[in-house]
Amino acid sequence: MEEMGRLESINGLESFEDVSYVNQKPIGNNSRSKPGTYTGVFDLIRKCYADTEQAKNMQLSKAHFSFNSSKGQCLECSGLGEVSVNMHYMDDLYVYCNKCHGKRYCNEVLEVKRKNLSIGDLLDTEVHDLIEVFEEEKEIAQQLSMLDQVGLGYLKLGQSASTLSGGEAQRIKLAKELYKRECKSILYILDEPTTGLDEEDVEKVISVLTDLKEKGATIIVIEHNIKMIKACDYIIELGPTGGNQGGHITKVGYQSVSL
Ligand SMILES: [Zn+2]
Repeated sequence: MEEMGRLESINGLESFEDVSYVNQKPIGNNSRSKPGTYTGVFDLIRKCYADTEQAKNMQLSKAHFSFNSSKGQCLECSGLGEVSVNMHYMDDLYVYCNKCHGKRYCNEVLEVKRKNLSIGDLLDTEVHDLIEVFEEEKEIAQQLSMLDQVGLGYLKLGQSASTLSGGEAQRIKLAKELYKRECKSILYILDEPTTGLDEEDVEKVISVLTDLKEKGATIIVIEHNIKMIKACDYIIELGPTGGNQGGHITKVGYQSVSL
């Protein structure tokens, strides 16, 4: 049997401009990593708040609307919205910050509203509700729609990255990829992108990937979901223990599936 991972050569790579491995690793491992900051959409939203008449009159800049900047953050919780309580022999307990009531910012910044939402409210609102709030800001609406299309409409931009599952982290990365790239001849590799999704959201992800394919991308998915497998042009089956460590490739077959 051939040793796995060692090849004499690979042919055909010149057909791809780039290879993108969209894995399930966390999008950040500190309490300041959030879906909003990771995707970059929060940066555009902060600018949007700073551009309001109200913010200009109060001389608040884009930096004031960052919960990571001491300019506008609640100084009690340093913009986290919660404070840790030392529990001695147990893990620290996090409780809502008494000063900003979980809103992360100082009162002055929270006074600035866009469609009745302060920037603190916005971080606590689900993505699918925000699409309507930003329907006039095309770039922001598009980025939010990408998150919704990969089945993450229920996420909040300010949600801590540590609360996200591997599948959710992977789909956030996918949404970011979809938005930032002029998707042409890129090879995408995804490891079980449908993990934890319900039927309806599986269909959304399939339709996003089909769009990518139509734009010229090639997508390899490692999958068990039958709907996703059915939507593929080719299937490579890696035997009964193909995915397990120490497993062998017992059968490799190419098969066209007609939709
Ligand atoms: Zn606070």
